[in-house]
Amino acid sequence: MRKIHVFLLILISTFIFSCLNVDASSEKIINVLIQNGNEKGYFEYKDGEYSGYYYDYLMAVKKDSWQYNFTTDKTKPYDIVVGTISNAENNKTGDYQTKYPIVSKDYIVGFSNTNYDFTVNDITSCYNKLIGAGMNDYIYGTTTALNSSFKDFCKNQGINCGSGSDRNNSKITYSVVDDPIEYFLEDMVDGILVDDSKALEYELLSAVKFSSISLYIESKNKDLIDTIDNNVNFINSIDSDYISTLKNKYFSSIYQRTLKFNDEELEYMQGRSEINVGVLSCSAPFSYVENGQLKGVITNYIKRIEEKFENVNFKYKTYDSIENARKALLSGEIDINLVNVYYIGNSNGDVSSSYYKDKIGIYLDKHEKNGKIAAFSEHTFEYAKSIGYGDNSVILFKNIEEAIKEYKNGNVRGIIGATSICSYYINKEQLFNLELSLTKSETVYYSFEYGSTISSISKSIITKITSQIDEQLMKNEITSEIINAYTPSLVENFRLKDFINKYAIVLVTVFVIIICIIVFLASVILFNINRSRKKAYDEIYVDHLTKGNTLKKFLLDVNKIVKDEENWSVIYFDIINFKNINTMFGEKTGDYVIVKLYNKLVSMALDSIVARIYADRFVVAVKYSNEKNYIEKLDYYAKLFYRYLISEFPDFNVSLRCGVAYASSSEDISITIDHASQAAHILNKTTGVNYLVFDDTMALEIIKKSEIERDMEKALASKEFEAFYQPKVNALTNEIVGAEALIRWNHPTKGLLSPGVFIDIFESNGFIVDVDFYIFTLVCKHIRNELDEGRKVVTISSNFSRAHMMSYNFVTKLNEIADKFEVPHKYLEIELTETMSFDALSQYKDVIVSLRSAGYKIAIDDFGSGYSSIQLLYNLPITTLKLDATYARKTNKSDFEDSLMQSIIDICLKNDIDIICEGVETKEQLDYVLSRNCTNIQGYYFSRPLPEIEYIKYKEGKK
Ligand code: C2E
Ligand code: CA
Ligand code: CA
Repeated sequence: MRKIHVFLLILISTFIFSCLNVDASSEKIINVLIQNGNEKGYFEYKDGEYSGYYYDYLMAVKKDSWQYNFTTDKTKPYDIVVGTISNAENNKTGDYQTKYPIVSKDYIVGFSNTNYDFTVNDITSCYNKLIGAGMNDYIYGTTTALNSSFKDFCKNQGINCGSGSDRNNSKITYSVVDDPIEYFLEDMVDGILVDDSKALEYELLSAVKFSSISLYIESKNKDLIDTIDNNVNFINSIDSDYISTLKNKYFSSIYQRTLKFNDEELEYMQGRSEINVGVLSCSAPFSYVENGQLKGVITNYIKRIEEKFENVNFKYKTYDSIENARKALLSGEIDINLVNVYYIGNSNGDVSSSYYKDKIGIYLDKHEKNGKIAAFSEHTFEYAKSIGYGDNSVILFKNIEEAIKEYKNGNVRGIIGATSICSYYINKEQLFNLELSLTKSETVYYSFEYGSTISSISKSIITKITSQIDEQLMKNEITSEIINAYTPSLVENFRLKDFINKYAIVLVTVFVIIICIIVFLASVILFNINRSRKKAYDEIYVDHLTKGNTLKKFLLDVNKIVKDEENWSVIYFDIINFKNINTMFGEKTGDYVIVKLYNKLVSMALDSIVARIYADRFVVAVKYSNEKNYIEKLDYYAKLFYRYLISEFPDFNVSLRCGVAYASSSEDISITIDHASQAAHILNKTTGVNYLVFDDTMALEIIKKSEIERDMEKALASKEFEAFYQPKVNALTNEIVGAEALIRWNHPTKGLLSPGVFIDIFESNGFIVDVDFYIFTLVCKHIRNELDEGRKVVTISSNFSRAHMMSYNFVTKLNEIADKFEVPHKYLEIELTETMSFDALSQYKDVIVSLRSAGYKIAIDDFGSGYSSIQLLYNLPITTLKLDATYARKTNKSDFEDSLMQSIIDICLKNDIDIICEGVETKEQLDYVLSRNCTNIQGYYFSRPLPEIEYIKYKEGKK
């Protein structure tokens, strides 16, 4: 019986015995703490069932009498803890630890599985890619920066890898962000540094594995650990691949093999006609010649690869022994030897990583007790000697065919060699007296061997090709080759009666199986019919995300009730800035929040009906008894829901607006919903809870907003947006030092509109991004014109909404525009608003740094109106601080405030950061700010924002 069968039998009997529960008294409950909880691939709990690497492993190493009780809660008592690292003192849990690591956890560069533009385990796949890394990756109790271990990995290979200002001369760049996964999902980075579990969760593929750690089991109970170690030892002795197969079972999808050559390699292949490869003519099942044709598993593989890549051409030469193939390799006759067998630490030459592993087997004749054994490769020959077969007991033959011949002639009593090869020939020749002796076994590796003639680039091509070989598939092909090596002929002397007699059991079994299949298919069909009915219902009435009501279901239910009962109303909930969650944290997070919010509404709404209309919009139909009761209810809903929102999701900076409308029995409920939503939409840009009850005057406001949204795209196309320029003046010298570009909308029917009317709307619908680039383009055009005309040129600042900061090609886009007009970047200033807060701004540090290194000036706008963090000044490379108009105007500042602002101004001036005061209108205000050392002024005192022509006049007049 094969070893694996023994193992399976043991597992099955273990299972049966534990089910029978033969001896309940000896049963032992082992409380198992799973470190790091439910990590995909490692430990999962779904529909009452456990699965994952840890689970399988624990089940395999357990004693029959053990019963596991799993927990992920560290505060609960436990006997063993699974998944610890050996040397982390801060993570120390038990006094003993298993001596064999239970798993090696990998850290990889993950790319999207829809992007097949890379080869697994090829660092060059990461060239010219932007990789996202976490700020601090919390790895098993310690905070570690994955990016530094990746950087070290690259360094070891002589590849530059850097972030921030290091980026310029790096082949691989990374960006340290707070949540790399979200960045990745939003396509803001090409790949990310993650552990294998996260890679599995987000269906990533590993481009390269750069680090791994070994994890163990720990316990205070030495006996438990010893038992586990013994059992692991036992499993390894009967199936040494158990651990790697188990890891493959869960994680192979991350290491899926794809093959892509880089430009250099493609060019090389194009210029070269073929690569000479040597194969053995008698090394079945790997390679052999039959009826003049080259066959075998490895040759099939190579041929398939050759077909797939038209530029890869191999020329085969066959040799009858490894020795001859090696000679050819050394003489340059061939570049690669395809089949090279060696055992670890003992390979002769320059070899590729192995594409297959095998055991060395010793096959001895069961009747012959004395005599020599035959080896057919130098490695196994040496190996035989190393395990006690002296010079006189092992003979080296040229190849296995020779060895078999000697055995058949009675000159040797057995053979030593790789088990796949031996099994093939034993089966083919029907040598059933040869039995595998289990006592000694060692792994041999199959690989390619390179000759001295092969260039490093050919080698890398071959390495990539090796990575294409799937060991599991190869195993299957090898098995089928071995089975097919000898096929007894069934057709001769065929008689039906004999056949039936001989195969009665098989026939009955086949019959039963067919019946089972028919029954199964019938039930699948019935099940599908039912399911598609249910699916049709679900699609209409069940919201796919929340599993709650859809709008249709809501209308159906509420219309019915409202017809019969009075006093119903509809509250419409809209989460403001919800879009930010999606853009900043990814849609998955967005979906998660939506489901939580929906559930909260349902739990609040006792005598009400809830539905999600779409996106982040919810409606609740509420019953009330009188007006007072109604307002109370509304207050209750809005406040409770808002409190929930900000306490559950404090980082998302979202708020809530609600619209309310009374339902009437004569109106369809969809009209009530419309009214409620219109009321909500009037509450533009609010913070905190806000609700508004619908009345008729509201309809007008709504029309205004929808008109703007209706007109905006067309306005951009027909150049209705204009830049006005407001001069910035040095009040001491009366010289013009710069200007700010401010948008105006020259609306065909409404006249000149100020940004106050439309900017918020553009920000809320994202149109602002296009508009900002448009104004920036006008600014560049203007400066180009001034340069061409030989007039004085000053720096012009443009406003950029925070929406830009999320896109990493922001800087590239700016460069494109500026360079198109050949405007030196020093004339361009980017105004970022300080209300973003320091935390928000520092998140964008990378972008701000690259803006600055691209030569743009950077101004912080509206300083003093919001958080006024001085950290900004030394953490970010800013060039200008714009003091908000309130600074010049607010005369009743406290001494503290005044001196704080003064020291900020002084710090700036000392450190070459320009200060400019905005909104200075009067002489008093001017005198005040001058007395505070602010000499640069932007305000009506000097000039309002001016159309381009007037601005040029003003500027020229100042000369
Ligand atoms: P801001 O960036 O703070 O621009 C300064 C605003 O103050 C301008 O209003 C300007 O006309 C006004 N101002 C300047 N001096 C005085 C003064 O002495 N007294 C008074 N009362 N006001 C003064 P404006 O042009 O209406 O722009 C309002 C806001 O709209 C800007 O505030 C800026 O946040 C935004 N904005 C304007 N253009 C753009 C743009 O192209 N893109 C983006 N994203 N936002 C823009
Ligand atoms: Ca501004
Ligand atoms: Ca401002």
